[in-house]
Amino acid sequence: MNEKFEPLRFAHLPTPLEHLSRLLNREDGPDLWIKRDDQTGLAFGGNKTRKLEYLLADALNIGARTLITRGAIQSNHCRQTAAAAARTGLNCTLVLTGDPPEEITGNVLLDELLGALIVWTSGNDPETVMHQTFGEAQERGLKPYLIPYGGSNHLGVLAYAEAMQEVIQQGFSGDRIVLASSSGGTQAGLCLGAALYGFEGKITGISVDLPAGELTEIITKLIETTSSWLDVNVQIHEGTVEVNDAYLGEGYGVVGEIESGAIDAFAKKEGILLDPVYTARAAGGMLDMIHRGEIESDEKVLFWHTGGTPAIFAYGEEITVESSQ
Ligand SMILES: *Cc1c(COP(=O)(O)O)cnc(C)c1O
Repeated sequence: MNEKFEPLRFAHLPTPLEHLSRLLNREDGPDLWIKRDDQTGLAFGGNKTRKLEYLLADALNIGARTLITRGAIQSNHCRQTAAAAARTGLNCTLVLTGDPPEEITGNVLLDELLGALIVWTSGNDPETVMHQTFGEAQERGLKPYLIPYGGSNHLGVLAYAEAMQEVIQQGFSGDRIVLASSSGGTQAGLCLGAALYGFEGKITGISVDLPAGELTEIITKLIETTSSWLDVNVQIHEGTVEVNDAYLGEGYGVVGEIESGAIDAFAKKEGILLDPVYTARAAGGMLDMIHRGEIESDEKVLFWHTGGTPAIFAYGEEITVESSQ
């Protein structure tokens, strides 16, 4: 464990490590495992809960009273931030991209239930609106604390380095970890944790929205800033940060065949729910890589489930459900 920083503890950890025995329907495929970070326990859970244990400790340490962050309409990060604020007695203002939707469902419904104040960007630049909102909160004496997009800074990254230690302590040693990657903090943390705690397999991030070059650069910088803050020496080689952007499809949040197929397979074969935006894209990409032989049949592979389940309810029309009866 790191000695540099003491997080709050509200996540249900360690999350389960489970075997996926029915997904591939065959004996000769890769040996598949799943890390259930959809079960981190905070208001439907997800990967942001681990990051928030560190970010909220920092917020409380400096005497903040209001959390401010931003995300898409169906942001899982924002929903978990609202829940963490409620849990610790802080106020929460969320800057959500766009206009108020006609139907309040999925994560937006939960944001409201959890007591967050929502600011809609209505066509303005989300990052700018977030900083304006922060400035106004400061002037009004609300003691705001700014949580960056996706909770991805050195604290969020440290949380995932510790998560890597957790899965190693659960006995996992394999050839590869596959995860959905977007703001990069989760993948950066796993890469840092791999270096610190000795995981030697590959870490394959399936990009959800950015071109591979751009996301690789973001992740590399996050590893560098976090390791220099921790004062540890971590070597990043060519290939340490592996990003696959072959599954961007029609763009962020657009559900295609890859996503629908993965949701269907995980639900019907394993009883596990994927979210339409992140984990279905990553799991669908993983299944396609297996199919193409890019992930080899003798590999031991861990799919890191990063959560997002409540978004299912906002995408009911887009998810094609196949009847199997
Ligand atoms: C935020 C999120 C991700 C991506 O994590 P990053 O650290 O932003 O790369 C993946 N899956 C789900 C469900 C998320 O909410």
